Amino acid sequence: MTHHRDTKLLHIDSAPFDPLTDSAPVSLPSVRTSTVRFKNLSALEKTLAKRADGQRVFTYGIGGLQTHRALEEVFNTLENGNYCVLSGSGLASIHLVFMSVLKAGDHVLISDNVYGPVRNLNDTLLKRLNIEATFFSPSKDDLDTLIRPNTKMLYLESPGSLLMEMLDLPDLCAKAHRHGLVVATDNTWGTYIYQPLTLGADISIIAGTKYVNGHSDLLIGAVVTNRDDLAGQINQMQYALGNSISADDVWLSLRGAKTLGLRLREHANQARRVSEFLATHPKVSRIYDPAWPDDPGHGLWRRDCSGANGLLSISLNCTPTDAKAFVDRLTLFGIGFSWGGFESLVQWVSPAALTNHHYWQEQGKAVVRLHIGLENVEDLIADLDQALSVLPDPA
Ligand SMILES: *Cc1c(COP(=O)(O)O)cnc(C)c1O
Repeated sequence: MTHHRDTKLLHIDSAPFDPLTDSAPVSLPSVRTSTVRFKNLSALEKTLAKRADGQRVFTYGIGGLQTHRALEEVFNTLENGNYCVLSGSGLASIHLVFMSVLKAGDHVLISDNVYGPVRNLNDTLLKRLNIEATFFSPSKDDLDTLIRPNTKMLYLESPGSLLMEMLDLPDLCAKAHRHGLVVATDNTWGTYIYQPLTLGADISIIAGTKYVNGHSDLLIGAVVTNRDDLAGQINQMQYALGNSISADDVWLSLRGAKTLGLRLREHANQARRVSEFLATHPKVSRIYDPAWPDDPGHGLWRRDCSGANGLLSISLNCTPTDAKAFVDRLTLFGIGFSWGGFESLVQWVSPAALTNHHYWQEQGKAVVRLHIGLENVEDLIADLDQALSVLPDPA
């Protein structure tokens, strides 16, 4: 019998029964180790042969044991994938993908709306490795004219960071595949509600730090693919880089995954209520969230997504400097990076972060990103209302 995704997510890490007692705890414990012991040499040899064949087997702590496999299955279930490698953070997963797919002399096309640290990865690492990156506007630029003979990968994020620019993934993937490119996309926003692999992407990356864990107390990332050739490359690179992931962090992420659907539906309901309040407020210029009906990405969101979440940005009818007073005045929204935990957060977006972002059309206005947490929504709206009152009246 095939079950719905929510049911699967709850039962993936059921602990097996102990043959001596015929009993078990509900969930797998955190299986911590460096060394894996084998019953005899023949068992070791069989395992090594499977590993040489590209299978993910238990050989050493670096690849993880049962706890890690269970979380890999969570990500495969979420992404409709069949191969997953974990990393110590979302950014480490992005790094793993670039290193797995590209080599010196290659060119990569990167959408200009990506998570900011990807630009730092380019400046700090890709340039030194003689891998050239072109940042392009997915809505304005013609992909066909940007692809060169040495272009190997299209790297996307949909919706993009900060302004939630929704992309036409099937269209971009089809174009890239006509030129033989690998399409990798950051699906952190789309955790649980968007499946890039089903829409045509080859690799999906998720920062489990955000909604999968959901409690703002660890960093973890995942790379998921359905392509055997890429799976082999990613597996090899993970061993080469030597990154390990704490079983305890994996275990906490498994615990988070059990309430993922429930939490996301509530984050989305709350964000909807907050947006209804903000949309009518004279000091708010616009809401950036593809789930919001006035967002230009709403049509694509309806076509390609199965739900919404608690992340949105707003522009205010004031300067970025004026908006700092609004941010400081909020009491329930913590000032901080990241999102996806149970709590509300606010990020004052620096105008510099939007400079290279072609989707940004409201020059001079302030942008603030909000993560709508699980606090009582009336309290959140009241907090936003009182903080907006410190802003100057729009001219
Ligand atoms: C947070 C985030 C990441 C990075 O995740 P970390 O685990 O913090 O390294 C990557 N992409 C997006 C879109 C994110 O929001």
